[in-house]
Amino acid sequence: MEILLAKSAGFCFGVKRATQMAFDAVNHYSSLQSLGPLIHSPQMVKKLEDHGIRVCHQVEDADGDALIVRSHGVTATEMTALHASGKAVVDATCPFVTRAQKHAAELSRDAGLLVIVGEAHHPEVKGILSYATGDVQVVANVEQARKLPQCRKMGIIAQTTQSLDNFREIVGVCLEKTRDLKIYNTICDATSVRQEEAVAIARQVELMLVVGGYNSANTRRLAELCREQGTTTHHLETAAEIDPAWFAGIDRVGLTAGASTPQFLIDEIITRLRAL
Ligand code: SF4
Repeated sequence: MEILLAKSAGFCFGVKRATQMAFDAVNHYSSLQSLGPLIHSPQMVKKLEDHGIRVCHQVEDADGDALIVRSHGVTATEMTALHASGKAVVDATCPFVTRAQKHAAELSRDAGLLVIVGEAHHPEVKGILSYATGDVQVVANVEQARKLPQCRKMGIIAQTTQSLDNFREIVGVCLEKTRDLKIYNTICDATSVRQEEAVAIARQVELMLVVGGYNSANTRRLAELCREQGTTTHHLETAAEIDPAWFAGIDRVGLTAGASTPQFLIDEIITRLRAL
């Protein structure tokens, strides 16, 4: 059976950097904790725990001497609390997220209404929003954008994982709301690169495997996109979930993984597939 493995499968730059920073920092502190699970992969969180990196959910609960901030960042208030806690802070916020936070601060100060394109409940968006000082609204889609008020000046940025198409459409709506629009495209291409490659592979195979946490929105979206190509697709977290019956009569299988899926899980799946 031929296996088509996506080149983009697995960790994006920001997640790879955050995990590397955690493994480096654990040797420097007597007890390192992550503020929330470091990445959306239960198996990787377990591996980090095995190395002594425990999860705590709020600064007040931390009992170690150092805390690591996740790649999608925290709110300005949480960052202040972290620094005031007296613990060492390892800031693994992805530089692309930091850039969006900086643009939020700048646009909300200088550009009237700030519009953030994204999911209001997502921690990254909450973090970006917290750096805005003036009027700010989060919109997820064109329908919500149409409800924005007319205003003299407007600034617009996006959650890093938004699709460019959605951002473009919302920018189009915002142009009808103001004559002074300042735009920063803060989208990171990690998501689109993974999605485009997954779609291309799904069109060439009879069966698609998508590896990653069930709690990872970007992994679920990869599986959805593969299914939309008409290809039978299984979303799985580990090689143990593979059912040999899936491969009856299959000559070509595609394999991809979300941006928070560690390489060791992808390797285990490949080993299992080769042994079938
Ligand atoms: S998806 Fe992009 S912005 Fe988010 S952590 Fe990965 S590289 Fe950074």
